[in-house]
Amino acid sequence: MTSIHDFAAIEQWRHGHRLEAQHVRSLRTAFYKKYAGPREALAALPKAVRDDFAARFEFHALELSERFDSARDGATKLLFRTAEHLLLESVVLRPASGRTALCVSTQVGCAARCQFCATGKMGLARNLSAAEILDQIVQSGELAAREGRNVRSIVFMGMGEPFHNEEALHAALARLVDPRAFHFHPRRLLVSTVGIPRAMVRCARAWPQVRQAVSLHSARDDVRRHLMPVAARHDLTELREALAEVAALGQYDVMIEYLLLDGLTDTDDDVAALIEYLRGLRVHVNLIPFNPIAEAPPLRRSTPSRHAVVSESLKAAGFPVTTRYSLGADIAAACGQLVRDAQPGAAVAP
Ligand code: SF4
Repeated sequence: MTSIHDFAAIEQWRHGHRLEAQHVRSLRTAFYKKYAGPREALAALPKAVRDDFAARFEFHALELSERFDSARDGATKLLFRTAEHLLLESVVLRPASGRTALCVSTQVGCAARCQFCATGKMGLARNLSAAEILDQIVQSGELAAREGRNVRSIVFMGMGEPFHNEEALHAALARLVDPRAFHFHPRRLLVSTVGIPRAMVRCARAWPQVRQAVSLHSARDDVRRHLMPVAARHDLTELREALAEVAALGQYDVMIEYLLLDGLTDTDDDVAALIEYLRGLRVHVNLIPFNPIAEAPPLRRSTPSRHAVVSESLKAAGFPVTTRYSLGADIAAACGQLVRDAQPGAAVAP
């Protein structure tokens, strides 16, 4: 079957049936903007062609397998299954601000193997297609719509390194900002990366207003390589040049993700190195208290007092600083934990 997101194929089908463009526009409004689901979207077409459309075009590329609702903070984790029964996760975030956000995956598993991440311990099974990336948004959006919520923003912070699946990422971004489809303002989209300099710049050139977040976690090359083996291929100097270019192209503060690890990233020397590294860059620092995972016992969360020292030092140096507290801690909402717990080994490539 052809994906519902393949607009060229739908256009060809429409011409074949001599159908007014308005019918397809109405179908898309129901499907993408109201998240009304396939049945209501199909109702926008004349009765005579509905069955044919439904037989040719696939509305959902994934099957929703399970949902887990946080009792604490309104996060919902959705576990999806691909056609070949691989599992992946998305999260619906309902923060106190009322601004519903979706966190989506770009890969099943991940090849980046970050030390602190459950997904990184799985290895990579495969890239998701653009249709599979978009379907997480469609199905999560349908869930939010049933609650009377509007999806305000999308963050690519789920399983996988988005820039390791660059073609599908760009295809998904194209549909997300497309006025005929979701029509998100690009500022409401955020791509989070371990820091792949050339891909960051390509993304900023194609989508200057799409925001980027970079997992820095240390301003020392040796510590960074230890935490994120992928950093061995791109040193901090190369990454800094990309950060400057992305911020200049997009005219916004790039988000720097910084994991607070006891004795590893939170010492006075670490903070001094971080301030020196970021000086002159247009950035916003997001501090992340570490949520321990079973597979990385030596990594420990910073104490509250060290957290405060890091935060105050950065502020004193003139950087905007926030702290990201993970929503949905009681449903293992941190990247990859649920798939790992639900079916150990399910996403692991041989
Ligand atoms: S943190 Fe992101 S890039 Fe690193 S292993 Fe996990 S999913 Fe991959």
